Amino acid sequence: GPAGAPATADTPTHCPYCALQCGMTVGGGPVRVAPREDVPANRGGLCQKGWTAAELLTVPDRLTTPLMRAHLGAPLEPCGWDEALDRIAAEIGRLQARHGRDVIGVFGGGGLTNEKAYQLGKFARIALRTSQIDYNGRFCMSSAAAALNRAFGLDRGLPGPITDVARADAVMLVGGNVAETMPPFMRHVTEMRERGGALIVVDPRRTATARQADLHLQTTPGTDLALANGMLYLAVEEGLLDETFIAERTGGFEAVRRSVNTYWPDRVERITGVPVPQLREAVRLLGRGVRSLILTARGAEQHARGTDTVTAFINLALALGLPGREGGGYGCLTGQGNGQGGREHGQKADQLPGYRRIDDPAARAHVAAVWGVDPQIIPGPGRSAYELLDALGTDDGPRALLLFGSNPVVSAPRADRIEERLNALDLLVVSDFVLSETARRADVVLPTMQWAEESGTLTNLEGRVLRRRRAVPAPAGVRSDLEILAALAGRLGAPGTWSTEPAEVFDELRAASAGGPADYSGITYQRIEKEGGVFWPCPAEDHPGTPRPFLDRFHTPDGRARFIPVEHGRGAAEGIDEDYPVYLTTGRVLAHYQSGAQTRRIGPLVEASPEPFAEMHPDLADRLGVTDGMDVRVTSRRGTVVVRARLVESIRHDTVFIPFHWAGEGRANLLTNPALDPTSRMPEFKVCAVRVEPHEPN
Ligand code: SF4
Repeated sequence: GPAGAPATADTPTHCPYCALQCGMTVGGGPVRVAPREDVPANRGGLCQKGWTAAELLTVPDRLTTPLMRAHLGAPLEPCGWDEALDRIAAEIGRLQARHGRDVIGVFGGGGLTNEKAYQLGKFARIALRTSQIDYNGRFCMSSAAAALNRAFGLDRGLPGPITDVARADAVMLVGGNVAETMPPFMRHVTEMRERGGALIVVDPRRTATARQADLHLQTTPGTDLALANGMLYLAVEEGLLDETFIAERTGGFEAVRRSVNTYWPDRVERITGVPVPQLREAVRLLGRGVRSLILTARGAEQHARGTDTVTAFINLALALGLPGREGGGYGCLTGQGNGQGGREHGQKADQLPGYRRIDDPAARAHVAAVWGVDPQIIPGPGRSAYELLDALGTDDGPRALLLFGSNPVVSAPRADRIEERLNALDLLVVSDFVLSETARRADVVLPTMQWAEESGTLTNLEGRVLRRRRAVPAPAGVRSDLEILAALAGRLGAPGTWSTEPAEVFDELRAASAGGPADYSGITYQRIEKEGGVFWPCPAEDHPGTPRPFLDRFHTPDGRARFIPVEHGRGAAEGIDEDYPVYLTTGRVLAHYQSGAQTRRIGPLVEASPEPFAEMHPDLADRLGVTDGMDVRVTSRRGTVVVRARLVESIRHDTVFIPFHWAGEGRANLLTNPALDPTSRMPEFKVCAVRVEPHEPN
C-alpha cells in the first residue's frame, strides 16, 4: 500500500529511537502515535522525539527505489532491485576471487532489531565468510560492556527493572543527561526524590539533569576514573565498606584498596576540580543508602580509558556492597534503541550469537550446528569499528563495505578521515530509508523498511526483550533488511536457511543463543506478548526470565565479582596545551537522535533545534573576544568546524560543548580524537583539545 496508509487499528509497539524503548501505539489516518501506560519504562510519557515519530513514516525524501552509479563518479540513479542485487553479488564475487574473503567488510548498527543483528552476523560469517564485521555500538557503550564482562562475567545493562530507580535511596548518574536524551526516565528519578532519595550527577556541564540533582559534581573532562578512586578512598575512611559482601561475593579487594591509597581527597580535588566536601557528601549518600545505584553513560564510557573508568565505578559499587542488594548495584544506560540486543547476536567483530566468543571452539561448534555449516568455515575475530573504517581501501583492508543502520560520516570520530576511506572503496553499499550523508557516497543504495513497517524484537536498557510490531504498510518498492540479506545470500550460494520472516529468524536466534551468556532460548513472541517483555537470560520456556542477574551470584567461574585495580595515569589521551587550550566535549540535545539522519527530517524537531552550536562560559568567551550568537571557529589537531557560540553559565570555564547530530561545517566529529580504549576499542569522543576563535568569513 501507499506510504502512511491508515492502519485499521492502533498497534502497540515501541519508539523508533533510544534505548528506553518507550511504549507507544501507532495507528489511525493520518497515522499518529500515542504513549502507552502499560510499559514500565515510560508509563504514559514520551519525549518530543517519540511524539513526532509518526512523521518519520512520511518524510518527503523517503527512498522507494534502489539507486546505483553506472560507474565511478557517475550520479546515483534509480534502478531495479534485481539489477542492484546482481551488481552487488557480482562485485563481491569478483573482489573475493582476487583478494580473498576479508576484502568485504560489513558495518551494522545498534538500532537494528535482534533478528537483523543476528542475520547480519550470520551473513558476514557464512555467506561472505569474512571476519570484517563490526557495528556502531562500538562507539556507544562498549567500554561498559567490556568492564561488566571483566568484573561480573556478564554484560547486561541495568542490574534490575527500571522501576528500581524509583525505589532507590540514592542514584549516581555519571556522564548521562537523561533529562534531554530520554526524558521519561526522569519520572523514575523524580519519584525516587519524592520518596526522599538523592540524585547525584557527575558531568562537566550543569545539564538539565544536573539541575535537578541534589548534588552535582562538575568534573574536568577525562577525570572520572580519578573521581571514582577518590570516592573509594573516602568510603574506606568513612567506614562505609560492606565487609560481608566483599568477603562473600567478591575477590581482589585488597589490591584495589591498596591502589586507591594515593587518591587522597586533596589530590582528587586537584585532578577532577570537585571540592572535597562534595566528594565526601556523594560517598555518604551512596554508602549510607541501602539501595543505591551507580549508573554510567557515554560521558564515562567514551574515553580511551573508558573500560578502566567504568571499572573504577564498579569497584566503588562492589566496595559499598550495592550489587548484592535488590534494587541496588551498578548499571550502564545504553543509548541506541537496541543498544543492549545489538551487542548480543553476533554483529560484533569478536562475537557469535548468544554473546559467545568467536574464538571459543565450543561456541563455534554450537553456532555452526545451528547454521548447518562446518565450524571451520566460520572466520575468526575481525577489526573493531573504527579500525575497520580506518582500514577501508588500504592494501590489507576491505575494498567493499556493506552498511546497515548507521551513518558513520557523521557519527564516527575524525569524520573526514572516515569519508576519505569510504571514498577509496571499490564498492560501498548502504541500506537505509533516506539518503543519509553516508548513503550519498554509496555506489548502491538499497531502500529499506523502517520501524513501524516491519516487526521484530529489541532488548531495551533493562535487558527486557520487547516486540516492535508492524503497524503500517511499507511504501511500494522498499524491502526489509532480512529480504535484502536473503536475496544476497541466495545469489552468493550461501549455505544455511535465510528466512525473511522475523518470527522464524527469532526462533533460529533462540537456538543459536541457547547455553550462551545471553540466552534467549526460553523467550518466544507469544511470551513477550503475554508478559509485556521477558528479561534475558531465559534458558527455558518455563523459566521466568532474569530481571536481576547478579543478586545471588556473578557469572564468573567462581561466582564472585572481580575487583580490578585501575589508575588515572595521565588521564585523557589528549590534554590541553598552549596551542589547543580548551577541552571539547560532545553529546546530544533533546530534539535529536544520534547522527540526526532521522530527526533532522522532522519539522518540529528541526524547529526546536535547527543547528549545531558551541556552548561556552561567558568568562571564556570574554577572553576569546566571542559574544553570544557569534560564529566561532573551533579547531582541533584533526579539523575545524564553524558553529554559533552559545554563552551559558552552566559549563566549566575550560570546556566547550558541541552536539554531534549535524553534518556540514558544524560536524562535531571532524574534531574528535579516535584514540582507542585498549580493551573495548571505544574512541575518545568525550574529550579532546581545541582552540576557539571568532570566525570572520572571507
Ligand atoms: Fe522514549 Fe527515547 Fe523515544 Fe524519547 S526517544 S520517546 S525517551 S524511547
